[in-house]
Amino acid sequence: MSNPRSFRSPALQVLDATVPATSVLSGRVLLHEESRFIPHQRGAVDNERGGVVMTGNTADDRALRLRTEAAFTGAMLIDSAPYKTYTATAEQPFLLPSDELFPSVDLSLGFQKARGASAAITPTGYIAPGDSKALKAVIREASLIERADTVVSLPIDVTWLRDDRVDQLIAACARISQPKALVMIAQFDPLKQSKELPGNLRRVVSEVENMMLLRTDLAGLEAMVHGALCAGIGISSTVRHSVAPGEKPAVNKPGPNYPSVLMPELMRFSGAEALSNRYANADAPPCYCAVCDGRGIDRFLGTDRDTRIEAGDHNVLTWSAWVEEMASTTPGLQRKTWWRDKCAAAIDNYALENQRLGLSTKKGFQPPLPLCAWATLPVS
Ligand SMILES: [Zn+2]
Repeated sequence: MSNPRSFRSPALQVLDATVPATSVLSGRVLLHEESRFIPHQRGAVDNERGGVVMTGNTADDRALRLRTEAAFTGAMLIDSAPYKTYTATAEQPFLLPSDELFPSVDLSLGFQKARGASAAITPTGYIAPGDSKALKAVIREASLIERADTVVSLPIDVTWLRDDRVDQLIAACARISQPKALVMIAQFDPLKQSKELPGNLRRVVSEVENMMLLRTDLAGLEAMVHGALCAGIGISSTVRHSVAPGEKPAVNKPGPNYPSVLMPELMRFSGAEALSNRYANADAPPCYCAVCDGRGIDRFLGTDRDTRIEAGDHNVLTWSAWVEEMASTTPGLQRKTWWRDKCAAAIDNYALENQRLGLSTKKGFQPPLPLCAWATLPVS
């Protein structure tokens, strides 16, 4: 289903509960991050087509400061990420504030708006593999919400996108009248867990109206191309997916946490250390975004603040240019074909780049499974 709206309404600073979330979020690709730059907004964010999902432990306070101290007027959501610590149950799918005498979801939603959010997100807990009762409880509680400004968060274990579960997930989403924000929960890249997942995620966003995909990577663009209302791309790997409550994010390799860098030609995120090693004896591909200005993408090997900011800005500017390209296509077949061709061209670049570096297919860069799927799944 393609986005019906072609214009963007201004994301006013103060919007009451009657302003629909759909009108504020439609067509936007937001940056999901724990903003470290308050009281300034990251300059790389395109407020025309984007905005911010503020997350982390003190997301609400920082959101308020962004509104008040930085006078930020762009679109903003507050994701306090209850799914990191709380598992949804049949009785209580939402994590309600513990410091209130009469906690209610309405209070939680109103609190986000009072902190400057453009729309409110339900405080849904992690929906464990196959826990149909918890999913049904979300549908039940969502039906009781009378506000127009609400997005129903669905932090699903990624196994919900497997062949044996996805129909149930689609049916559940269709029963929720509000916009629905999927957050995929898994260790490492959720969509790499099994090969049917990218196609099934495409089914969810195209078959159900007003789906969103938050805390993700380039899957956010794939979702938008195939009809999602809105997406949120994480600034770092920890904000590009989440793990189940009680789990710790596994890492491929212990050591310093260097930035991950979006490679424009290959449409992949790579760790700065891997890039630095890979291009130790060869020129790294240059980038022509506003911060790189023709410099190589192997220069982000640092854990200091400035390097992180620069790497993050490079990433945001790179995918924001793709959002701009996407917006210039007509929703539907033309847009889907543009995306498929773009992903296919990136796949072709892997062989080219590996050959330039004198690396075999096995030792060189390998295209991520989701990118291969986006390049080959049929468009219709
Ligand atoms: Zn760049």
